[in-house]
Amino acid sequence: MIKVKKRKILLLPGDGIGPEVINEVRKVITWLNSKKSLDFEIDEDLAGGASYDKHGTPITDEVFYKALESKIVMLGAVGGPKWDNLEFQKKPERALLKLRKELKLFANLRPAICFKQLVHASTLKPEIVSGLDIMIVRELTGGIYFGEPRGIKPIDNGERKGINTHTYTSSEIIRVAKVAFDLAKKRSNKVTSCEKSNVMEAGQLWKEEVQTLHDAEYKEVELNHMLADNCSMQLLRNPKQFDVIVTDNLFGDILSDQASMLTGSLGLLPSASLGEKNKDGEMRAMYEPIHGSAPDIAGKGLANPIATILSFAMALRYSLDLDKEADNLEKAVQDVLNDGLRTKDIVAKGNKEVSTAQMGDAIISKLK
Ligand code: NAD
Repeated sequence: MIKVKKRKILLLPGDGIGPEVINEVRKVITWLNSKKSLDFEIDEDLAGGASYDKHGTPITDEVFYKALESKIVMLGAVGGPKWDNLEFQKKPERALLKLRKELKLFANLRPAICFKQLVHASTLKPEIVSGLDIMIVRELTGGIYFGEPRGIKPIDNGERKGINTHTYTSSEIIRVAKVAFDLAKKRSNKVTSCEKSNVMEAGQLWKEEVQTLHDAEYKEVELNHMLADNCSMQLLRNPKQFDVIVTDNLFGDILSDQASMLTGSLGLLPSASLGEKNKDGEMRAMYEPIHGSAPDIAGKGLANPIATILSFAMALRYSLDLDKEADNLEKAVQDVLNDGLRTKDIVAKGNKEVSTAQMGDAIISKLK
């Protein structure tokens, strides 16, 4: 059993703009170490296409073990056209899936926050999205993406049949619902649980287990159940009605992408993937921006590092219990946006365009 080292942070920059955005997080960590005596131990290694190029595999066993003993894994992004034609097992994305699966990261947290300074970047009307702050909790290791049996097989009439199986056990539902209720208690105290209990037994079980957990342990939190298709519609109609949404792997995949686009820019949105706490209260976790490796802008200093820096703020809050430092880092991002500094993806008339590194430096200067 590999023990988690309490202060160890593993940086996996990955491919494309990954190294550029992780570089800005490294600067933030170094600053916190020197000014706040936080004593984080930073390690860094290859993942994705960069690892394939050097070692012939998207993640080596050595890096995987480093991830196992790290309190936090900070991932940039993996993938790019260079590796698109590799066989499935060697694709850069396999590194991500292996980390999520083997570290048992069952709860994926994706906040969708619409910064007031960027309200016009959304495709929705400003009054619909202004001040939006919702958190989607997606179950990440169960459901139809993992259920057996699965596959494509020939059938009698000469046709083929594609099969995937949607299954959830009570314990899988309860552990992710607990994450959602605990988060809601620190936010606006409201959880919306989404499923398709009208047409799916697994959805019916989901609804029952969430309700039972609520009645037993979280009566003080407001709980609503909503069918996933209705939730999709409500996210566009009136997204501010939500605080925390908890849902399964498949619906969470779709709803979280939909919610992220309410805010207008991929370069701003962080995410966290959390594992189960062991008996010592230790939890493995990985933090990453929701965007990909953006090969079209890689190496040009154009990448927006805010999503990755906000992912590190989530790490401070959820893995390290450093809420004050997390608040300060989030405030520093707001301050820089208030000053009108923007990377190219979010620049508008009257703003000052800055590079990836200049944005990172400006955020650190606000921390000071
Ligand atoms: P993408 O998120 O990389 O890029 C989509 C668009 O958004 C591009 O125009 C890009 O320039 C822009 N963009 C993304 N992040 C930005 C940032 N921080 N600052 C400024 N602009 C930004 O998605 P894609 O183009 O579909 O995928 C590119 C590669 O990334 C593919 O190989 C894909 O498989 C991979 N990918 C990886 C992850 C991950 O590592 N978690 C997630 C999604 C996609």
